[in-house]
Amino acid sequence: MMNLNHLHEEMRACRRCLEAGYDIAPGAIFSPGSENRRVMLIGQAPGVTEVDARRPFNAGSGRRLFQWLGEAGWDEGAFRGRHYMTAVTKCYPGKSGNGKGDRVPSKAEQALCRPFLEQEIALVNPRLILLVGGLAIKLFYPAAVRLEEIVGTAAYFPPEVLAHPVNFDLAQAKWPVPFTESKEERGRWVVPLPHPSGASLWPNQPANQALIQQAIALLRQLRLALEL
Ligand code: SF4
Repeated sequence: MMNLNHLHEEMRACRRCLEAGYDIAPGAIFSPGSENRRVMLIGQAPGVTEVDARRPFNAGSGRRLFQWLGEAGWDEGAFRGRHYMTAVTKCYPGKSGNGKGDRVPSKAEQALCRPFLEQEIALVNPRLILLVGGLAIKLFYPAAVRLEEIVGTAAYFPPEVLAHPVNFDLAQAKWPVPFTESKEERGRWVVPLPHPSGASLWPNQPANQALIQQAIALLRQLRLALEL
């Protein structure tokens, strides 16, 4: 039976996208956390500084992300040490064609990497999934959804729909839902956040900053109540 260590060996050795003709830098970047990991953070794909440092959200986008998480009460070192951080695609996709930022992984690359993401979710079985940025958000939410509609809200998958822990079907979740469930409930919370990269102007708009503060307040409640 597959365990996380075996999965991580497979992920690090994987060359599927390269073999399919995509000019990625092979070598999956993720942060496995420790034994009692109960939060899974899913980003888009690593950037070049993440490849150098061998850890997700290493540079500028990491500073903003960990500022948000810090306001929710998670110290960066403790979060990195304890919780699981991964991405929709796990290898650096290279620069975008227009030279502005990194290339967004294609649908084909997302599909090639999807079995790894599903196995990560099955093995970690997180209580809280943090979706960071549009690509991760689209794992659960409709493609046309706007950040303004969902940042500051949560979805809750009750235990009865997690008999198999890989469930992306928002129709089976309560959404949007305020945090009222008891910590004894074994369900899963899903909270979306915008991408914290400086290339995204969305977080700088005052109305959107208020939504981010709402998301941080929600995360603080979840962290305390579920002892995350
Ligand atoms: S992005 Fe995923 S599927 Fe593609 S080579 Fe890297 S680990 Fe493999």
